[in-house]
Formats: sequence, C-alpha cells, structure tokens
Amino acid sequence: MGDTIFGKIVRHEIPADIVFENDEVLAFRDLNPQAPVHVLFVPKRTIATLNDATGADAELLGKLLLAAASYAKQEGFDKEGYRTVINCNEHGGQTVFHLHVHLLAGRRMTWPPG
Ligand code: IMP
Repeated sequence: MGDTIFGKIVRHEIPADIVFENDEVLAFRDLNPQAPVHVLFVPKRTIATLNDATGADAELLGKLLLAAASYAKQEGFDKEGYRTVINCNEHGGQTVFHLHVHLLAGRRMTWPPG
C-alpha cells in the first residue's frame, strides 16, 4: 500500500488543522466532521490497516489510544464521554489506508453505528 493523503499531512506537505504532535503521533481535525469534535490520531509510521499491525506495533497502537484519551481529557470530554473508532477495509468503512483512530466528541453517540 502506497502513500496516502495522511502521509502527506504527517510530513507537513499539505495543510491540516493539527491539534497534537509528538515524535510518533500526529492528530488533526477531520475535514468532514461527524461530531462537534472529530479528530484523527495517526501514527507517523505508516501502517495501512489494523490488519497490517503486528506485535512490533503494539506500543505505538497503545500510544495512539492514549493520545486520543489525553486529548479528550484536556478538552473536557472525559466525564460525559466520547467515542474512538478504527475502521478497517471496505466493510469497516475505511477510506484512507493509513491507520487512524477517530475521536468523536461533543454529542451523544448512538449504537449500533451505521
Ligand atoms: P476512514 O473512512 O476511517 O478511512 O476515515 C477517513 C477520514 O479522513 C474521513 O472521516 C475523512 O473525512 C477524513 N479526511 C480525508 N481527507 C482528509 C484531509 O485531507 N484532512 C482531514 N481529514 C481528511
């Protein structure tokens, strides 16, 4: 799987509304938000889908989730709650093949998701 738009964002080649960055993780606002707050947490190292993650990525996957939780807490969504989502391949609704965690917050979510 080749480069994606998220790879270009990670390398700062195209603009994004970045809300968090460290050596391994970048977070930016989704262009088409599905909630008042919709932020994407992506590893800087490209992993195409959750299927492609291996044991070597375990720490990085943990860091992605912890970065999302930390941001949600920082923005005051921890008490009311929020949703994190990883879509995988066609039936999961994945459209960008650079693994990412969606953080959705600021409204009550419904279940089951569509
Ligand atoms: P997926 O469907 O889980 O792969 O999520 C991809 C997400 O990326 C969608 O919610 C899109 O709205 C979002 N998206 C696509 N291109 C961009 C972009 O250039 N900047 C920010 N978000 C994007």
